[in-house]
Amino acid sequence: MALSLEQMVGSDLLDIAEKVERGERLSYDDGLRLYRTPNLTAVGYLANLVRERKHGKKTYYVKNQHINYTNICNKFCKFCSFYAKKGGPAPYQMDLAEVKRRLEWHLDVPITEVHMVGGINPRLPYQYYLDLVKMVKETRPGVHVKAFTAVEIVEIARQGKVTVEQALRDLMDAGLDSLPGGGIEVLSDRVHHELFGKKLNGEEWKEVARAAAKLGLKQYATMLYGHIETDEERVDHLVQLRELQDETGHFLCFTPLSFHPEGTELEDIEHPTADTDLRNIAVSRLMLDNFDHIKSFWIMNTVPVTQMALWYGADDADGTVQEYEITYKDGEWGNKSQALTESAMIRMIEEVDRIPIERDSLYHAISGGEERAPVANAGRFTALPLAPV
Ligand code: SF4
Repeated sequence: MALSLEQMVGSDLLDIAEKVERGERLSYDDGLRLYRTPNLTAVGYLANLVRERKHGKKTYYVKNQHINYTNICNKFCKFCSFYAKKGGPAPYQMDLAEVKRRLEWHLDVPITEVHMVGGINPRLPYQYYLDLVKMVKETRPGVHVKAFTAVEIVEIARQGKVTVEQALRDLMDAGLDSLPGGGIEVLSDRVHHELFGKKLNGEEWKEVARAAAKLGLKQYATMLYGHIETDEERVDHLVQLRELQDETGHFLCFTPLSFHPEGTELEDIEHPTADTDLRNIAVSRLMLDNFDHIKSFWIMNTVPVTQMALWYGADDADGTVQEYEITYKDGEWGNKSQALTESAMIRMIEEVDRIPIERDSLYHAISGGEERAPVANAGRFTALPLAPV
Protein backbone atom coordinates (compact mmCIF):
# COMPACT_ATOMS: atom_id res chain seq x y z
CA MET A 1 0.00 0.00 0.00
CA ALA A 2 1.43 3.36 -1.03
CA LEU A 3 2.08 5.78 1.81
CA SER A 4 0.33 9.14 1.82
CA LEU A 5 2.30 12.37 1.52
CA GLU A 6 1.62 13.06 5.19
CA GLN A 7 2.97 9.64 6.15
CA MET A 8 6.09 10.34 4.08
CA VAL A 9 6.95 13.77 5.49
CA GLY A 10 4.92 14.14 8.70
CA SER A 11 2.22 16.68 9.49
CA ASP A 12 4.74 19.46 10.26
CA LEU A 13 5.95 19.70 6.67
CA LEU A 14 2.72 18.71 4.93
CA ASP A 15 1.90 22.21 3.66
CA ILE A 16 5.40 22.56 2.16
CA ALA A 17 5.14 19.06 0.67
CA GLU A 18 1.84 19.99 -0.99
CA LYS A 19 3.46 23.08 -2.52
CA VAL A 20 6.30 20.92 -3.84
CA GLU A 21 3.80 18.48 -5.33
CA ARG A 22 1.97 21.35 -7.04
CA GLY A 23 5.27 22.83 -8.30
CA GLU A 24 4.74 26.07 -6.35
CA ARG A 25 7.57 28.36 -5.33
CA LEU A 26 8.59 28.04 -1.66
CA SER A 27 8.74 31.10 0.56
CA TYR A 28 11.53 32.42 2.77
CA ASP A 29 9.71 30.98 5.81
CA ASP A 30 9.41 27.58 4.13
CA GLY A 31 13.18 27.61 3.57
CA LEU A 32 13.81 28.40 7.21
CA ARG A 33 11.57 25.55 8.34
CA LEU A 34 13.39 23.14 6.00
CA TYR A 35 16.70 24.14 7.58
CA ARG A 36 15.33 23.73 11.09
CA THR A 37 13.22 20.60 10.98
CA PRO A 38 14.89 17.57 12.57
CA ASN A 39 13.28 15.47 9.83
CA LEU A 40 16.13 15.55 7.30
CA THR A 41 14.76 12.45 5.59
CA ALA A 42 11.56 14.33 4.71
CA VAL A 43 13.54 17.28 3.33
CA GLY A 44 15.60 14.87 1.24
CA TYR A 45 12.48 13.06 0.03
CA LEU A 46 10.95 16.33 -1.18
CA ALA A 47 14.19 17.48 -2.81
CA ASN A 48 14.41 14.15 -4.59
CA LEU A 49 10.87 14.61 -5.96
CA VAL A 50 12.02 17.85 -7.61
CA ARG A 51 15.33 16.33 -8.73
CA GLU A 52 13.59 13.37 -10.39
CA ARG A 53 10.92 15.63 -11.94
CA LYS A 54 13.70 17.59 -13.64
CA HIS A 55 16.23 14.86 -14.42
CA GLY A 56 14.92 11.41 -13.49
CA LYS A 57 17.91 9.30 -12.50
CA LYS A 58 20.37 11.20 -14.72
CA THR A 59 23.54 12.36 -12.99
CA TYR A 60 26.00 14.61 -14.76
CA TYR A 61 29.76 14.87 -14.56
CA VAL A 62 32.44 16.64 -16.58
CA LYS A 63 36.04 15.79 -17.39
CA ASN A 64 37.91 18.84 -16.17
CA GLN A 65 41.22 20.23 -15.05
CA HIS A 66 41.64 22.92 -12.42
CA ILE A 67 44.42 25.50 -12.63
CA ASN A 68 44.98 27.74 -9.60
CA TYR A 69 47.41 30.16 -11.22
CA THR A 70 48.50 32.03 -8.06
CA ASN A 71 47.94 31.85 -4.32
CA ILE A 72 49.23 35.38 -3.71
CA CYS A 73 46.27 37.41 -2.53
CA ASN A 74 45.63 40.73 -0.82
CA LYS A 75 42.11 39.98 0.42
CA PHE A 76 42.95 37.86 3.52
CA CYS A 77 39.56 36.19 3.82
CA LYS A 78 39.28 34.51 7.21
CA PHE A 79 37.75 31.30 5.82
CA CYS A 80 40.53 30.77 3.25
CA SER A 81 43.38 28.26 3.62
CA PHE A 82 44.63 28.78 0.09
CA TYR A 83 46.36 32.15 0.06
CA ALA A 84 50.07 32.43 0.87
CA LYS A 85 50.85 33.46 4.43
CA LYS A 86 53.46 33.07 7.14
CA GLY A 87 53.15 29.61 8.64
CA GLY A 88 50.89 28.60 5.76
CA PRO A 89 51.27 27.91 2.07
CA ALA A 90 54.38 29.28 0.36
CA PRO A 91 53.61 31.87 -2.31
CA TYR A 92 53.56 30.86 -5.94
CA GLN A 93 52.71 32.53 -9.21
CA MET A 94 52.52 30.49 -12.39
CA ASP A 95 53.89 32.08 -15.52
CA LEU A 96 52.31 31.13 -18.81
CA ALA A 97 54.94 28.47 -19.47
CA GLU A 98 54.09 26.76 -16.17
CA VAL A 99 50.36 26.77 -16.90
CA LYS A 100 51.07 25.38 -20.36
CA ARG A 101 53.24 22.64 -18.83
CA ARG A 102 50.38 21.63 -16.53
CA LEU A 103 47.93 21.54 -19.40
CA GLU A 104 50.30 19.43 -21.49
CA TRP A 105 50.76 17.08 -18.57
CA HIS A 106 47.13 15.95 -19.01
CA LEU A 107 46.89 16.07 -22.80
CA ASP A 108 46.19 12.33 -22.86
CA VAL A 109 43.01 12.88 -20.80
CA PRO A 110 40.12 13.99 -23.02
CA ILE A 111 39.00 16.82 -20.74
CA THR A 112 36.40 19.27 -22.01
CA GLU A 113 36.76 22.04 -19.38
CA VAL A 114 39.60 24.02 -17.82
CA HIS A 115 38.55 25.72 -14.58
CA MET A 116 40.92 28.54 -13.56
CA VAL A 117 40.76 30.67 -10.43
CA GLY A 118 43.41 32.29 -8.27
CA GLY A 119 44.16 34.85 -5.60
CA ILE A 120 44.11 38.60 -6.12
CA ASN A 121 47.73 39.39 -6.92
CA PRO A 122 47.95 43.13 -7.64
CA ARG A 123 51.23 42.67 -9.52
CA LEU A 124 49.60 40.76 -12.37
CA PRO A 125 48.94 43.03 -15.35
CA TYR A 126 45.76 43.04 -17.43
CA GLN A 127 47.53 41.38 -20.36
CA TYR A 128 48.49 38.37 -18.19
CA TYR A 129 44.86 37.34 -17.87
CA LEU A 130 44.13 37.75 -21.58
CA ASP A 131 47.27 35.80 -22.52
CA LEU A 132 46.42 33.10 -19.98
CA VAL A 133 43.02 32.44 -21.53
CA LYS A 134 44.44 32.59 -25.08
CA MET A 135 47.19 30.14 -24.21
CA VAL A 136 44.71 27.63 -22.74
CA LYS A 137 42.66 27.77 -25.93
CA GLU A 138 45.78 27.34 -28.09
CA THR A 139 47.10 24.44 -26.01
CA ARG A 140 43.76 22.62 -25.75
CA PRO A 141 41.68 23.73 -28.75
CA GLY A 142 37.95 23.27 -28.22
CA VAL A 143 38.13 23.18 -24.44
CA HIS A 144 35.65 25.29 -22.45
CA VAL A 145 37.40 27.91 -20.33
CA LYS A 146 35.55 28.56 -17.08
CA ALA A 147 37.60 31.14 -15.24
CA PHE A 148 37.79 34.02 -12.78
CA THR A 149 35.30 34.61 -10.00
CA ALA A 150 33.62 38.01 -9.74
CA VAL A 151 36.32 39.28 -7.36
CA GLU A 152 38.98 38.43 -9.95
CA ILE A 153 36.96 40.09 -12.71
CA VAL A 154 36.79 43.32 -10.68
CA GLU A 155 40.58 43.16 -10.12
CA ILE A 156 41.27 42.44 -13.80
CA ALA A 157 39.14 45.46 -14.78
CA ARG A 158 40.99 47.60 -12.23
CA GLN A 159 44.35 46.49 -13.66
CA GLY A 160 43.23 47.35 -17.18
CA LYS A 161 41.61 50.61 -16.09
CA VAL A 162 38.49 49.51 -17.96
CA THR A 163 34.91 48.82 -16.94
CA VAL A 164 33.88 45.34 -15.79
CA GLU A 165 31.88 44.99 -19.00
CA GLN A 166 34.92 45.87 -21.15
CA ALA A 167 37.13 43.46 -19.20
CA LEU A 168 34.58 40.70 -19.78
CA ARG A 169 34.42 41.54 -23.50
CA ASP A 170 38.22 41.38 -23.80
CA LEU A 171 38.37 38.10 -21.89
CA MET A 172 35.61 36.65 -24.08
CA ASP A 173 37.55 37.72 -27.19
CA ALA A 174 40.56 35.88 -25.72
CA GLY A 175 38.44 32.72 -25.26
CA LEU A 176 36.65 32.95 -21.90
CA ASP A 177 33.47 30.84 -22.02
CA SER A 178 31.89 31.12 -18.55
CA LEU A 179 32.40 32.39 -15.00
CA PRO A 180 32.62 30.10 -11.96
CA GLY A 181 30.42 30.90 -9.01
CA GLY A 182 32.67 31.85 -6.12
CA GLY A 183 33.63 35.24 -4.82
CA ILE A 184 30.69 36.11 -2.59
CA GLU A 185 30.39 33.07 -0.25
CA VAL A 186 27.18 34.29 1.44
CA LEU A 187 25.13 37.29 0.33
CA SER A 188 25.09 38.91 3.76
CA ASP A 189 26.57 42.26 4.79
CA ARG A 190 27.26 40.87 8.26
CA VAL A 191 29.21 37.83 7.02
CA HIS A 192 30.97 40.00 4.44
CA HIS A 193 32.08 42.42 7.12
CA GLU A 194 33.20 39.69 9.53
CA LEU A 195 34.95 37.30 7.16
CA PHE A 196 35.87 38.88 3.86
CA GLY A 197 35.52 42.64 4.14
CA LYS A 198 38.30 43.39 1.64
CA LYS A 199 36.52 41.49 -1.10
CA LEU A 200 33.64 42.81 -3.15
CA ASN A 201 30.24 42.98 -1.45
CA GLY A 202 26.95 41.43 -2.50
CA GLU A 203 25.79 44.30 -4.68
CA GLU A 204 29.14 44.44 -6.51
CA TRP A 205 29.01 40.67 -7.04
CA LYS A 206 25.54 41.03 -8.54
CA GLU A 207 26.74 43.80 -10.85
CA VAL A 208 29.39 41.46 -12.29
CA ALA A 209 26.72 38.77 -12.73
CA ARG A 210 24.42 41.23 -14.52
CA ALA A 211 27.25 42.38 -16.79
CA ALA A 212 28.07 38.76 -17.65
CA ALA A 213 24.42 37.98 -18.39
CA LYS A 214 24.14 41.05 -20.63
CA LEU A 215 27.06 39.78 -22.71
CA GLY A 216 25.61 36.27 -22.96
CA LEU A 217 28.24 34.77 -20.66
CA LYS A 218 26.98 31.85 -18.56
CA GLN A 219 27.81 31.67 -14.87
CA TYR A 220 27.67 29.24 -11.96
CA ALA A 221 26.60 30.09 -8.41
CA THR A 222 27.73 28.85 -5.01
CA MET A 223 27.25 29.31 -1.26
CA LEU A 224 29.98 28.59 1.32
CA TYR A 225 28.23 27.23 4.42
CA GLY A 226 29.25 25.85 7.79
CA HIS A 227 31.17 28.81 9.26
CA ILE A 228 29.42 31.75 10.98
CA GLU A 229 26.37 32.09 8.75
CA THR A 230 22.89 31.68 10.26
CA ASP A 231 19.96 29.73 8.83
CA GLU A 232 18.32 33.08 8.02
CA GLU A 233 21.38 34.16 6.04
CA ARG A 234 21.45 30.87 4.12
CA VAL A 235 17.81 31.22 3.11
CA ASP A 236 18.28 34.89 2.25
CA HIS A 237 21.24 33.94 0.02
CA LEU A 238 19.09 31.41 -1.84
CA VAL A 239 16.19 33.86 -2.23
CA GLN A 240 18.52 36.58 -3.55
CA LEU A 241 20.05 34.16 -6.07
CA ARG A 242 16.58 33.03 -7.14
CA GLU A 243 15.55 36.64 -7.73
CA LEU A 244 18.72 37.31 -9.72
CA GLN A 245 18.13 34.20 -11.82
CA ASP A 246 14.55 35.40 -12.49
CA GLU A 247 16.11 38.59 -13.79
CA THR A 248 19.05 37.19 -15.81
CA GLY A 249 18.40 33.47 -16.41
CA HIS A 250 22.14 32.98 -16.99
CA PHE A 251 23.08 30.73 -14.07
CA LEU A 252 23.69 27.11 -15.08
CA CYS A 253 24.05 25.40 -11.74
CA PHE A 254 24.19 25.99 -7.98
CA THR A 255 26.80 24.37 -5.73
CA PRO A 256 26.60 24.53 -1.93
CA LEU A 257 30.25 24.45 -0.76
CA SER A 258 31.06 22.76 2.55
CA PHE A 259 33.44 24.85 4.65
CA HIS A 260 36.78 23.24 5.54
CA PRO A 261 38.14 25.03 8.62
CA GLU A 262 41.58 23.36 8.55
CA GLY A 263 44.34 25.89 7.92
CA THR A 264 42.03 28.93 8.12
CA GLU A 265 41.57 31.61 10.78
CA LEU A 266 38.37 29.77 11.76
CA GLU A 267 40.07 26.52 12.70
CA ASP A 268 38.10 26.27 15.95
CA ILE A 269 34.84 25.80 14.07
CA GLU A 270 33.77 22.18 13.64
CA HIS A 271 33.65 20.80 10.13
CA PRO A 272 30.06 20.61 8.79
CA THR A 273 28.38 17.25 9.43
CA ALA A 274 26.86 15.00 6.77
CA ASP A 275 23.44 16.29 7.96
CA THR A 276 24.51 19.85 7.18
CA ASP A 277 25.99 18.87 3.81
CA LEU A 278 22.89 16.94 2.73
CA ARG A 279 20.50 19.56 4.10
CA ASN A 280 22.17 22.33 2.11
CA ILE A 281 21.93 20.26 -1.06
CA ALA A 282 18.26 19.45 -0.39
CA VAL A 283 17.10 22.93 0.68
CA SER A 284 18.85 24.56 -2.27
CA ARG A 285 17.15 22.10 -4.64
CA LEU A 286 13.79 23.01 -3.12
CA MET A 287 14.29 26.78 -2.98
CA LEU A 288 16.05 27.32 -6.32
CA ASP A 289 13.19 26.32 -8.57
CA ASN A 290 14.66 28.28 -11.48
CA PHE A 291 18.09 26.59 -11.38
CA ASP A 292 18.26 23.49 -13.56
CA HIS A 293 21.15 21.84 -11.74
CA ILE A 294 22.37 21.34 -8.17
CA LYS A 295 25.90 20.03 -7.73
CA SER A 296 27.55 18.03 -4.96
CA PHE A 297 31.25 18.89 -5.26
CA TRP A 298 32.80 15.56 -4.24
CA ILE A 299 36.15 17.04 -3.24
CA MET A 300 34.50 19.09 -0.50
CA ASN A 301 31.57 16.78 0.31
CA THR A 302 33.53 13.50 0.02
CA VAL A 303 32.57 10.66 -2.26
CA PRO A 304 30.23 8.89 0.24
CA VAL A 305 28.23 12.06 1.02
CA THR A 306 28.05 12.84 -2.70
CA GLN A 307 26.55 9.39 -3.29
CA MET A 308 23.84 10.19 -0.73
CA ALA A 309 23.42 13.71 -2.12
CA LEU A 310 22.35 12.17 -5.44
CA TRP A 311 19.19 11.12 -3.53
CA TYR A 312 18.87 14.47 -1.70
CA GLY A 313 18.46 16.79 -4.67
CA ALA A 314 21.85 16.80 -6.44
CA ASP A 315 21.95 15.80 -10.11
CA ASP A 316 25.60 16.72 -10.74
CA ALA A 317 28.74 15.23 -9.20
CA ASP A 318 31.17 17.79 -10.70
CA GLY A 319 34.19 16.38 -12.46
CA THR A 320 37.09 14.04 -12.61
CA VAL A 321 39.15 17.13 -11.52
CA GLN A 322 42.83 16.97 -12.36
CA GLU A 323 44.58 19.02 -9.65
CA TYR A 324 42.78 21.03 -6.97
CA GLU A 325 44.72 23.17 -4.56
CA ILE A 326 42.16 25.36 -2.82
CA THR A 327 41.38 23.20 0.22
CA TYR A 328 43.94 22.38 2.89
CA LYS A 329 44.23 18.64 3.09
CA ASP A 330 45.79 15.92 5.21
CA GLY A 331 47.67 18.36 7.39
CA GLU A 332 49.69 19.92 4.62
CA TRP A 333 49.56 22.57 2.00
CA GLY A 334 51.88 20.75 -0.37
CA ASN A 335 50.68 18.38 -3.08
CA LYS A 336 46.88 18.36 -2.95
CA SER A 337 46.24 17.18 -6.47
CA GLN A 338 43.19 14.95 -6.58
CA ALA A 339 41.35 13.10 -9.27
CA LEU A 340 38.76 10.43 -9.77
CA THR A 341 39.24 8.40 -12.89
CA GLU A 342 36.22 8.40 -15.17
CA SER A 343 35.52 4.77 -14.36
CA ALA A 344 35.58 5.58 -10.62
CA MET A 345 33.20 8.49 -11.22
CA ILE A 346 30.84 6.21 -13.14
CA ARG A 347 31.02 3.54 -10.43
CA MET A 348 30.34 6.15 -7.75
CA ILE A 349 27.15 7.17 -9.56
CA GLU A 350 25.96 3.71 -10.65
CA GLU A 351 26.48 2.19 -7.21
CA VAL A 352 23.61 4.34 -5.93
CA ASP A 353 21.35 3.49 -8.87
CA ARG A 354 21.78 6.74 -10.79
CA ILE A 355 22.57 7.05 -14.50
CA PRO A 356 25.93 8.70 -15.30
CA ILE A 357 26.07 11.16 -18.17
CA GLU A 358 29.24 12.90 -19.22
CA ARG A 359 28.32 16.50 -20.01
CA ASP A 360 30.06 19.53 -21.40
CA SER A 361 30.21 22.76 -19.40
CA LEU A 362 26.84 23.91 -20.75
CA TYR A 363 25.14 20.62 -19.79
CA HIS A 364 24.97 19.11 -23.26
CA ALA A 365 25.26 15.32 -23.01
CA ILE A 366 28.48 13.89 -24.46
CA SER A 367 28.16 10.21 -23.56
CA GLY A 368 26.42 7.84 -21.19
CA GLY A 369 22.74 7.80 -20.30
CA GLU A 370 22.30 4.04 -20.47
CA GLU A 371 20.58 2.54 -17.47
CA ARG A 372 22.48 -0.41 -16.04
CA ALA A 373 22.00 -2.57 -12.97
CA PRO A 374 23.48 -0.87 -9.89
CA VAL A 375 27.01 -1.97 -9.11
CA ALA A 376 26.86 -4.11 -5.99
CA ASN A 377 29.26 -3.21 -3.19
CA ALA A 378 31.79 -1.43 -5.36
CA GLY A 379 34.06 -0.91 -2.37
CA ARG A 380 35.96 2.17 -1.28
CA PHE A 381 36.50 5.03 -3.65
CA THR A 382 39.83 6.70 -3.27
CA ALA A 383 40.70 10.01 -4.83
CA LEU A 384 43.93 9.34 -6.66
CA PRO A 385 46.85 11.52 -5.69
CA LEU A 386 48.59 12.66 -8.84
CA ALA A 387 52.33 12.75 -9.26
CA PRO A 388 53.93 15.72 -7.49
CA VAL A 389 54.14 18.83 -9.65
S1 SF4 B 1 39.09 33.36 -0.83
FE1 SF4 B 1 40.02 34.17 -2.72
S2 SF4 B 1 40.04 36.38 -2.38
FE2 SF4 B 1 39.77 35.45 -0.35
S3 SF4 B 1 41.87 35.22 0.47
FE3 SF4 B 1 41.35 33.29 -0.54
S4 SF4 B 1 42.19 33.52 -2.59
FE4 SF4 B 1 42.04 35.56 -1.73
